[in-house]
Amino acid sequence: MRRVYLDHTATTPVDPRVLEAMQPYFSETYGNASSVHWFGQKARHVLELARETIAGRIGAQAGELFFTSGGTESDNFALVGAAYAARSKGKRHVITSKAEHHAVLEPCEVLAEEGFAVSLLDIDRDGMVSPEAVHGAMTDSTFLVSIMSANNEVGTIYPVKEISEIAHARGAMVHSDAVQSLGKMPLDVRELGVDLMTLSAHKIYGPKGIGALYVRKGTAIEPILHGGGQERGKRPGTENVPLAVGFAKAVELAVNEMEVEIKRMSRLRVELEARLRSRFPAIIINGHPTLRLPHILNVSFDSNKISLEGEMLLMNMDIHGIAVTSGSACTSGSMQPSHVLLAMGRDTRTAKATLRFAFGKSNTMDDVDYVVETMDEVIGRMTA
Ligand code: PLP
Repeated sequence: MRRVYLDHTATTPVDPRVLEAMQPYFSETYGNASSVHWFGQKARHVLELARETIAGRIGAQAGELFFTSGGTESDNFALVGAAYAARSKGKRHVITSKAEHHAVLEPCEVLAEEGFAVSLLDIDRDGMVSPEAVHGAMTDSTFLVSIMSANNEVGTIYPVKEISEIAHARGAMVHSDAVQSLGKMPLDVRELGVDLMTLSAHKIYGPKGIGALYVRKGTAIEPILHGGGQERGKRPGTENVPLAVGFAKAVELAVNEMEVEIKRMSRLRVELEARLRSRFPAIIINGHPTLRLPHILNVSFDSNKISLEGEMLLMNMDIHGIAVTSGSACTSGSMQPSHVLLAMGRDTRTAKATLRFAFGKSNTMDDVDYVVETMDEVIGRMTA
């Protein structure tokens, strides 16, 4: 059966060049990078080269990059680590937005339970956070503003540079979750002015289970894991050398090939959007019309015009070999509509009748043709 993978925001396959780069570091060069002997030092050298490569591609110094187990851990480290460091200075307020990933929202809930104040900013119909709202929420107690670089569901790109200036003017730090924007738009930590930035390898054709947190030199952050003194005491745990090498290779490739890939994916996205608009007048395109990632197309079917169950649609697409995501997530055994779409003002039924297409390296115009044909058939049947 024909299979079309259009879920590249969920994860990506490991690029064969990444796999090849990682291969020697499982059983040839296998030392513990913290051991002082020859085996260990060989591994250490490779690990530090990987760190330099990644840091260099985002405008950071190698010493400012800490390896973690992925985006979720990096977000937790940024939020909780910054909060614990700020506590000793008497600062207890964090600002974030309703568009953030659960890896930011849930640590904020934990901080709120621990007595920190959390401001959860609204987003507009395009999923955008306004810098004015950040400005309005700042207090003398604010230690951190956490606003993602681009949204994983609707692709909206946030004004992080402007937000950094506002936060810094009031003495607060800035964290940005850049998991989805790495390799999809230029990212430079100095240009953006961020103090903390989250990265993950498996969204850019790297291995699952590794990410990094950029921590600007001099930023006050406490470790959230405790154990050995690895990663300069900030993130204990035996260093994962093969995955770090794979991550570095993936970043190198993503940055080198970004310009070409942005153009290619934008063409596919624009074509799919145009064709869906012409066939289904009831669709709403979610996300900012211009400030958006090149590969994400998020469409809802307006519940006032058509009655469609997103999960059924997704399953029917899967039966035809097409992998996409719906506008719902399984929480405690029931399907809940996306918190981002609800915050954008979509009603529950419309939010549930949503599909997210996320293009990647494997996709071609033939895939767009197949998706449109399939949706014609499936939606025709579901609404007959
Ligand atoms: N942040 C964003 C914006 C994401 O899209 C994801 C993954 O979907 C994460 C964080 C979590 O990253 P990881 O899967 O590496 O833990």
